[in-house]
Amino acid sequence: MARQAAMKGNLPAMRRQQMILFVFLASVALNAGLALREPNWLALPAMALGWYVADMLSGLIHMYMDYRPCTPGKRLNDIFFYEGSRESDEYLTMLRQRMATIGPFERISYDFKNHHPRPDALGRRPLWRLIGSTVVLAALPVSLLGNLAGWFLPIPGWLFAGLVAFLIGGAFAQYFHGSLHRAHNPWFIAAMRRVGLLMTPAAHQVHHDTLQRDFATNCGWSNPAINRLFRTLRARGMLDDRGLVPSA
Ligand SMILES: [Zn+2]
Ligand SMILES: [Zn+2]
Repeated sequence: MARQAAMKGNLPAMRRQQMILFVFLASVALNAGLALREPNWLALPAMALGWYVADMLSGLIHMYMDYRPCTPGKRLNDIFFYEGSRESDEYLTMLRQRMATIGPFERISYDFKNHHPRPDALGRRPLWRLIGSTVVLAALPVSLLGNLAGWFLPIPGWLFAGLVAFLIGGAFAQYFHGSLHRAHNPWFIAAMRRVGLLMTPAAHQVHHDTLQRDFATNCGWSNPAINRLFRTLRARGMLDDRGLVPSA
């Protein structure tokens, strides 16, 4: 009931979110059009590279957010370690209050930590909660810059092919991660897993079993490189285990 009421009150916000998503997809489509203007075999390696870089970003951000200590004083530990029902009014009120005091950055960091003990919660998050801040703060501005550059500068089409793959992989990274924690997904998720463009839940489980490896959650191509980086940083005393859970 509380959730339904909250949804109703948020109709203008939902409309704004749909609008932003529409503008983003239109902008990506325009970049795809710029790529198709002059077909070139270089588009294929460029797209593979764009997909790889997006995967690597998903892994680097995940690693940072997992181990970044939560800002003290926000008392996120109260909701993280809450022992009663997570459907209860007490919990939902506390969740709303705590979330109202933190920005999108802190929220993303909390979501990463929270998804270790409760991975299914990530799978249940609505699309906007998963990708909204990434689209607004990063993917949309980059895509619009691409549109502008393509309009005014003589940039080769294959570069736009790489950009489109990077934008889709980057913008939807947390959606792809969420799909690893959901039993039912759209058909294209299964198809992309079959050809290796997305990783499987079994491959991602390695991260949940250790919390010390395989942070990338798109296709996982960059995990060998990120695992090496993780070991190097740990050997230097960084990425302390205490950052994995919120403090008071
Ligand atoms: Zn993690
Ligand atoms: Zn996960």
